[in-house]
Amino acid sequence: YTGRPHVNLIEQQIKSIRVEDIMSVPVVVTEEMSVYDAIVTMFLEDTGTIYVVSEGILVGVVSRKDFLKNAIGGIDINKVPVAMVMTRMPNITTIFPEESIWVAVNKIVEHEVDSLPVVEKLVDEGKEKLKVIGKISKSNMAKLLVELCRE
Ligand code: ADP
Repeated sequence: YTGRPHVNLIEQQIKSIRVEDIMSVPVVVTEEMSVYDAIVTMFLEDTGTIYVVSEGILVGVVSRKDFLKNAIGGIDINKVPVAMVMTRMPNITTIFPEESIWVAVNKIVEHEVDSLPVVEKLVDEGKEKLKVIGKISKSNMAKLLVELCRE
């Protein structure tokens, strides 16, 4: 007993919510899209992170910092494809829809990222692949906190 029963209640509630309950629709592009077009997509879709897919399978993640770093590095953003500036699999931290948001928020904090791609495992020709089905971000978590506190 911690002497703070309200904290336990919040903890129980947080741990009972699954990723699929609060995940959002991800913004996805394909590897061959130019950095220029990907930046435009980031603005138009009002997102901070874009997932890069090939036939629905996760191949990369690209964030604001990736664009800034490469832009100041002097790449030709009209010619270079997004594949050249993205963080690639298998270096991407992902989460499954049935996992608890507690696990998700811990991964976000531990890996110092803004979001996690929500994925489903597929087996294709004996190889395991990850299909992108959603996104869980710091904004999802902030919105949830507001909702929980309003209840
Ligand atoms: P921002 O660039 O807006 O600060 P992030 O902190 O999420 O956004 O991204 C920082 C770096 O981590 C970028 O290089 C990005 O490609 C990478 N990144 C973002 N999300 C993930 C993830 N889920 N797994 C691995 N790397 C990621």
